[in-house]
Amino acid sequence: MILNTLCKTLITQTDDLVIVYEANFDDGGPRIVYVNPAFEKLMGYSADEVIGQSPKLLNGPNTDKQTRYKINRALRKGRGIRTELQKYSKSGQAHWLDMNIVPLYDDEGNLQYFASIERDLSRYKKMQRQLANMALFDSLTGALSRGAFMQHADKEFTRAKRYNRPLSVIMIDIDHFKIVNDQYGHAAGDRVLKIFVEAIEEEIRSTDVLGRIGGEEFTLLLPDTPLKSASYLAERIRERINKYPYIAGVNLIDITASLGVAVLTEVDNQFKEVLSRADQALYKAKNAGRNKVKLAA
Ligand code: GH3
Ligand code: MG
Ligand code: MG
Repeated sequence: MILNTLCKTLITQTDDLVIVYEANFDDGGPRIVYVNPAFEKLMGYSADEVIGQSPKLLNGPNTDKQTRYKINRALRKGRGIRTELQKYSKSGQAHWLDMNIVPLYDDEGNLQYFASIERDLSRYKKMQRQLANMALFDSLTGALSRGAFMQHADKEFTRAKRYNRPLSVIMIDIDHFKIVNDQYGHAAGDRVLKIFVEAIEEEIRSTDVLGRIGGEEFTLLLPDTPLKSASYLAERIRERINKYPYIAGVNLIDITASLGVAVLTEVDNQFKEVLSRADQALYKAKNAGRNKVKLAA
Protein backbone atom coordinates (compact mmCIF):
# COMPACT_ATOMS: atom_id res chain seq x y z
CA MET A 1 0.00 0.00 0.00
CA ILE A 2 2.82 2.36 0.82
CA LEU A 3 3.94 1.80 -2.76
CA ASN A 4 0.56 3.00 -4.04
CA THR A 5 0.84 6.24 -2.12
CA LEU A 6 4.42 6.69 -3.18
CA CYS A 7 3.57 6.14 -6.84
CA LYS A 8 0.76 8.62 -6.69
CA THR A 9 2.94 11.27 -5.08
CA LEU A 10 5.69 10.63 -7.59
CA ILE A 11 3.41 10.92 -10.61
CA THR A 12 1.63 14.04 -9.41
CA GLN A 13 4.77 15.84 -8.32
CA THR A 14 7.26 15.04 -11.06
CA ASP A 15 8.13 17.57 -13.77
CA ASP A 16 7.90 14.79 -16.35
CA LEU A 17 4.64 14.48 -18.24
CA VAL A 18 2.74 11.25 -17.65
CA ILE A 19 0.00 10.20 -20.06
CA VAL A 20 -1.78 6.88 -19.80
CA TYR A 21 -3.94 5.54 -22.60
CA GLU A 22 -5.79 2.36 -23.33
CA ALA A 23 -4.14 -0.37 -25.34
CA ASN A 24 -7.12 -0.52 -27.67
CA PHE A 25 -6.65 -0.03 -31.36
CA ASP A 26 -10.30 -0.33 -32.43
CA ASP A 27 -12.37 2.64 -33.56
CA GLY A 28 -9.83 5.35 -34.00
CA GLY A 29 -7.22 3.95 -31.66
CA PRO A 30 -6.39 4.38 -27.98
CA ARG A 31 -8.03 6.99 -25.75
CA ILE A 32 -6.36 8.91 -22.96
CA VAL A 33 -7.40 7.76 -19.47
CA TYR A 34 -5.01 9.79 -17.33
CA VAL A 35 -2.70 12.81 -17.50
CA ASN A 36 -0.67 14.20 -14.61
CA PRO A 37 -0.40 17.85 -13.49
CA ALA A 38 2.92 18.34 -15.33
CA PHE A 39 1.10 17.46 -18.56
CA GLU A 40 -1.69 19.94 -17.79
CA LYS A 41 0.85 22.64 -17.05
CA LEU A 42 3.00 22.25 -20.18
CA MET A 43 0.31 21.35 -22.69
CA GLY A 44 -2.32 23.78 -21.40
CA TYR A 45 -5.16 21.23 -21.39
CA SER A 46 -6.96 20.24 -18.21
CA ALA A 47 -7.28 16.51 -17.55
CA ASP A 48 -11.03 16.75 -18.23
CA GLU A 49 -10.38 18.16 -21.67
CA VAL A 50 -8.18 15.31 -22.83
CA ILE A 51 -9.51 12.24 -21.05
CA GLY A 52 -11.42 10.19 -23.60
CA GLN A 53 -9.59 11.87 -26.49
CA SER A 54 -7.05 10.31 -28.81
CA PRO A 55 -3.38 11.19 -28.12
CA LYS A 56 -3.35 12.38 -31.76
CA LEU A 57 -4.92 15.55 -30.41
CA LEU A 58 -1.40 16.66 -29.52
CA ASN A 59 0.05 16.26 -33.01
CA GLY A 60 0.69 19.20 -35.30
CA PRO A 61 2.48 20.26 -38.48
CA ASN A 62 6.00 19.43 -37.24
CA THR A 63 5.09 16.15 -35.61
CA ASP A 64 7.29 13.77 -37.57
CA LYS A 65 5.21 11.24 -39.53
CA GLN A 66 7.99 8.68 -39.69
CA THR A 67 8.37 8.72 -35.91
CA ARG A 68 4.60 8.47 -35.45
CA TYR A 69 4.61 5.44 -37.68
CA LYS A 70 7.45 3.91 -35.65
CA ILE A 71 5.55 4.49 -32.40
CA ASN A 72 2.36 3.06 -33.83
CA ARG A 73 4.11 -0.05 -35.02
CA ALA A 74 5.80 -0.67 -31.66
CA LEU A 75 2.55 -0.18 -29.74
CA ARG A 76 0.57 -2.45 -32.03
CA LYS A 77 3.10 -5.14 -31.27
CA GLY A 78 2.67 -4.45 -27.56
CA ARG A 79 6.19 -3.13 -27.28
CA GLY A 80 7.51 -0.02 -25.57
CA ILE A 81 9.49 2.64 -27.40
CA ARG A 82 11.74 5.55 -26.61
CA THR A 83 11.88 8.42 -29.06
CA GLU A 84 11.74 12.19 -29.56
CA LEU A 85 8.72 13.91 -31.04
CA GLN A 86 7.30 17.41 -31.36
CA LYS A 87 3.86 17.83 -29.83
CA TYR A 88 1.58 20.83 -29.60
CA SER A 89 0.04 22.53 -26.59
CA LYS A 90 -3.52 23.84 -26.55
CA SER A 91 -2.30 27.29 -27.60
CA GLY A 92 -0.45 25.76 -30.57
CA GLN A 93 3.08 25.96 -29.20
CA ALA A 94 5.35 23.10 -30.32
CA HIS A 95 7.41 21.24 -27.73
CA TRP A 96 10.14 18.72 -28.32
CA LEU A 97 9.49 15.79 -26.01
CA ASP A 98 11.64 12.85 -25.11
CA MET A 99 9.02 10.09 -24.84
CA ASN A 100 9.39 6.80 -23.12
CA ILE A 101 6.29 4.69 -23.73
CA VAL A 102 5.90 1.53 -21.67
CA PRO A 103 3.23 -1.17 -22.04
CA LEU A 104 1.34 -1.96 -18.83
CA TYR A 105 0.12 -5.55 -18.37
CA ASP A 106 -2.41 -6.83 -15.80
CA ASP A 107 -1.81 -9.82 -13.54
CA GLU A 108 -3.07 -12.22 -16.22
CA GLY A 109 -0.52 -10.90 -18.68
CA ASN A 110 -3.03 -8.94 -20.78
CA LEU A 111 -1.90 -5.67 -22.24
CA GLN A 112 -4.12 -3.00 -20.68
CA TYR A 113 -2.53 0.41 -21.03
CA PHE A 114 0.40 2.36 -22.33
CA ALA A 115 2.06 4.89 -20.09
CA SER A 116 4.05 7.59 -21.80
CA ILE A 117 6.58 9.40 -19.65
CA GLU A 118 7.69 12.52 -21.46
CA ARG A 119 10.32 15.14 -20.79
CA ASP A 120 10.28 18.62 -22.28
CA LEU A 121 13.40 19.05 -24.45
CA SER A 122 12.65 22.56 -25.71
CA ARG A 123 15.39 24.23 -23.69
CA TYR A 124 17.91 21.58 -24.60
CA LYS A 125 17.02 21.80 -28.30
CA LYS A 126 17.37 25.57 -28.24
CA MET A 127 20.79 25.28 -26.64
CA GLN A 128 21.80 22.71 -29.24
CA ARG A 129 20.85 25.13 -32.04
CA GLN A 130 22.76 27.96 -30.41
CA LEU A 131 25.85 25.80 -30.02
CA ALA A 132 25.75 24.76 -33.67
CA ASN A 133 25.53 28.39 -34.76
CA MET A 134 28.38 29.30 -32.48
CA ALA A 135 30.75 26.82 -34.12
CA LEU A 136 33.20 29.33 -35.54
CA PHE A 137 35.73 26.87 -36.83
CA ASP A 138 35.45 23.66 -38.77
CA SER A 139 36.75 21.03 -36.37
CA LEU A 140 38.63 18.98 -38.99
CA THR A 141 40.66 21.67 -40.74
CA GLY A 142 40.52 24.70 -38.45
CA ALA A 143 39.20 26.85 -41.34
CA LEU A 144 36.20 29.08 -40.56
CA SER A 145 32.87 27.26 -40.65
CA ARG A 146 30.54 28.17 -43.49
CA GLY A 147 28.29 30.30 -41.27
CA ALA A 148 31.16 32.17 -39.66
CA PHE A 149 32.82 32.76 -43.03
CA MET A 150 29.66 34.15 -44.59
CA GLN A 151 29.09 36.44 -41.64
CA HIS A 152 32.63 37.75 -41.85
CA ALA A 153 32.41 38.11 -45.65
CA ASP A 154 29.17 40.10 -45.41
CA LYS A 155 30.88 42.56 -43.05
CA GLU A 156 33.93 42.90 -45.28
CA PHE A 157 31.65 43.39 -48.27
CA THR A 158 29.85 46.28 -46.58
CA ARG A 159 33.14 47.83 -45.51
CA ALA A 160 34.68 47.50 -48.98
CA LYS A 161 31.62 49.14 -50.56
CA ARG A 162 31.52 51.98 -48.06
CA TYR A 163 35.20 52.86 -48.39
CA ASN A 164 35.41 51.96 -52.04
CA ARG A 165 38.09 49.33 -51.45
CA PRO A 166 38.77 46.29 -53.64
CA LEU A 167 37.69 42.89 -52.30
CA SER A 168 38.43 39.57 -53.96
CA VAL A 169 37.32 36.01 -53.44
CA ILE A 170 38.95 32.74 -54.46
CA MET A 171 36.96 29.52 -54.54
CA ILE A 172 39.00 26.34 -54.29
CA ASP A 173 37.79 22.80 -54.92
CA ILE A 174 39.98 19.70 -54.78
CA ASP A 175 40.13 17.79 -58.08
CA HIS A 176 38.73 14.26 -58.17
CA PHE A 177 38.56 14.04 -54.42
CA LYS A 178 36.12 11.17 -54.65
CA ILE A 179 38.90 9.08 -56.10
CA VAL A 180 41.12 9.87 -53.09
CA ASN A 181 38.40 8.62 -50.77
CA ASP A 182 37.71 5.58 -52.89
CA GLN A 183 41.33 4.64 -53.26
CA TYR A 184 42.72 5.39 -49.80
CA GLY A 185 39.65 5.53 -47.57
CA HIS A 186 37.70 8.30 -45.88
CA ALA A 187 40.21 8.74 -43.03
CA ALA A 188 43.00 9.37 -45.53
CA GLY A 189 40.68 11.83 -47.29
CA ASP A 190 40.19 13.66 -43.99
CA ARG A 191 43.93 13.79 -43.45
CA VAL A 192 44.41 15.24 -46.94
CA LEU A 193 41.86 17.96 -46.15
CA LYS A 194 43.83 18.96 -43.06
CA ILE A 195 47.12 19.13 -44.95
CA PHE A 196 45.41 20.95 -47.83
CA VAL A 197 44.40 23.78 -45.49
CA GLU A 198 47.94 23.95 -44.10
CA ALA A 199 49.25 24.31 -47.66
CA ILE A 200 46.89 27.20 -48.38
CA GLU A 201 47.62 28.89 -45.07
CA GLU A 202 51.32 29.04 -45.90
CA GLU A 203 50.53 31.34 -48.82
CA ILE A 204 48.07 33.78 -47.30
CA ARG A 205 48.26 36.91 -45.15
CA SER A 206 46.88 37.25 -41.66
CA THR A 207 44.04 39.48 -42.93
CA ASP A 208 42.95 36.88 -45.50
CA VAL A 209 40.24 34.56 -44.27
CA LEU A 210 39.77 30.94 -45.27
CA GLY A 211 36.39 29.23 -44.90
CA ARG A 212 35.33 25.65 -45.47
CA ILE A 213 32.02 26.10 -47.19
CA GLY A 214 31.47 22.54 -48.38
CA GLY A 215 33.02 19.10 -48.01
CA GLU A 216 36.19 19.84 -49.99
CA GLU A 217 35.30 23.34 -51.12
CA PHE A 218 37.02 26.33 -49.59
CA THR A 219 36.71 30.07 -50.02
CA LEU A 220 39.37 32.62 -49.47
CA LEU A 221 38.35 36.21 -48.77
CA LEU A 222 40.97 38.82 -49.65
CA PRO A 223 40.26 42.30 -48.26
CA ASP A 224 41.94 45.26 -50.01
CA THR A 225 42.99 43.02 -52.88
CA PRO A 226 42.26 43.77 -56.55
CA LEU A 227 41.63 41.04 -59.10
CA LYS A 228 45.16 41.01 -60.48
CA SER A 229 46.86 40.39 -57.11
CA ALA A 230 44.17 37.86 -56.26
CA SER A 231 44.86 35.94 -59.45
CA TYR A 232 48.62 35.88 -58.74
CA LEU A 233 47.90 34.56 -55.28
CA ALA A 234 45.52 31.95 -56.71
CA GLU A 235 48.25 30.78 -59.06
CA ARG A 236 50.74 30.50 -56.17
CA ILE A 237 48.20 28.54 -54.14
CA ARG A 238 47.50 26.22 -57.07
CA GLU A 239 51.21 25.45 -57.37
CA ARG A 240 51.68 25.02 -53.64
CA ILE A 241 48.74 22.61 -53.44
CA ASN A 242 50.16 20.63 -56.32
CA LYS A 243 53.67 20.35 -54.86
CA TYR A 244 52.76 19.85 -51.23
CA PRO A 245 53.38 16.38 -49.79
CA TYR A 246 50.15 14.73 -48.67
CA ILE A 247 51.20 11.86 -46.46
CA ALA A 248 48.40 9.70 -45.13
CA GLY A 249 49.74 6.60 -43.40
CA VAL A 250 52.06 4.87 -45.86
CA ASN A 251 50.64 6.70 -48.85
CA LEU A 252 51.94 9.76 -50.58
CA ILE A 253 48.88 11.17 -52.33
CA ASP A 254 48.91 13.48 -55.34
CA ILE A 255 46.50 16.38 -55.06
CA THR A 256 45.54 19.18 -57.42
CA ALA A 257 42.83 21.77 -57.09
CA SER A 258 40.87 24.11 -59.33
CA LEU A 259 40.41 27.76 -58.41
CA GLY A 260 37.99 30.50 -59.44
CA VAL A 261 38.68 34.18 -58.73
CA ALA A 262 36.21 37.08 -58.61
CA VAL A 263 36.32 40.68 -57.45
CA LEU A 264 33.68 43.00 -56.05
CA THR A 265 32.14 45.26 -58.71
CA GLU A 266 30.00 48.38 -58.44
CA VAL A 267 26.82 46.57 -59.36
CA ASP A 268 27.09 43.98 -56.55
CA ASN A 269 24.57 44.41 -53.77
CA GLN A 270 25.45 41.33 -51.77
CA PHE A 271 28.53 39.28 -51.10
CA LYS A 272 26.70 36.24 -52.50
CA GLU A 273 26.89 37.76 -55.98
CA VAL A 274 30.70 37.93 -55.86
CA LEU A 275 30.83 34.39 -54.49
CA SER A 276 28.59 33.14 -57.25
CA ARG A 277 30.93 34.61 -59.92
CA ALA A 278 33.92 32.95 -58.23
CA ASP A 279 31.94 29.70 -58.34
CA GLN A 280 31.30 30.10 -62.07
CA ALA A 281 35.01 30.76 -62.63
CA LEU A 282 35.82 27.61 -60.65
CA TYR A 283 33.45 25.69 -62.89
CA LYS A 284 35.35 27.01 -65.93
CA ALA A 285 38.65 25.86 -64.35
CA LYS A 286 37.20 22.36 -63.89
CA ASN A 287 35.98 22.27 -67.48
CA ALA A 288 39.33 23.48 -68.76
CA GLY A 289 40.91 20.28 -67.43
CA ARG A 290 41.36 20.99 -63.67
CA ASN A 291 44.51 22.10 -61.81
CA LYS A 292 43.83 25.58 -63.22
CA VAL A 293 42.99 29.12 -62.12
CA LYS A 294 40.22 30.96 -63.95
CA LEU A 295 39.02 34.53 -63.46
CA ALA A 296 35.36 35.56 -63.36
CA ALA A 297 34.09 37.30 -66.48
P1 GH3 B 1 35.82 17.39 -59.09
O1 GH3 B 1 37.20 17.41 -59.65
O2 GH3 B 1 34.79 17.57 -60.13
O3 GH3 B 1 35.67 18.37 -57.96
O4 GH3 B 1 35.63 15.91 -58.51
P2 GH3 B 1 35.37 15.48 -57.02
O5 GH3 B 1 35.57 14.01 -56.95
O6 GH3 B 1 36.21 16.27 -56.09
O7 GH3 B 1 33.88 15.79 -56.93
P3 GH3 B 1 33.06 16.58 -55.88
O8 GH3 B 1 33.74 17.87 -55.60
O9 GH3 B 1 31.66 16.64 -56.36
O10 GH3 B 1 33.08 15.57 -54.66
C1 GH3 B 1 33.55 15.84 -53.44
C2 GH3 B 1 33.82 14.58 -52.68
O11 GH3 B 1 34.47 14.92 -51.48
C3 GH3 B 1 32.59 13.84 -52.28
C4 GH3 B 1 32.81 13.42 -50.87
O12 GH3 B 1 32.88 12.03 -50.77
C5 GH3 B 1 34.14 13.99 -50.49
N1 GH3 B 1 34.12 14.65 -49.21
C6 GH3 B 1 33.37 15.71 -48.86
N2 GH3 B 1 33.59 16.05 -47.57
C7 GH3 B 1 34.52 15.19 -47.08
C8 GH3 B 1 35.16 15.02 -45.81
O13 GH3 B 1 34.93 15.76 -44.84
N3 GH3 B 1 36.06 14.01 -45.70
C9 GH3 B 1 36.35 13.19 -46.75
N4 GH3 B 1 37.25 12.23 -46.55
N5 GH3 B 1 35.74 13.32 -47.92
C10 GH3 B 1 34.85 14.30 -48.12
MG1 MG C 1 36.12 18.32 -55.91
MG1 MG D 1 33.27 19.76 -54.46
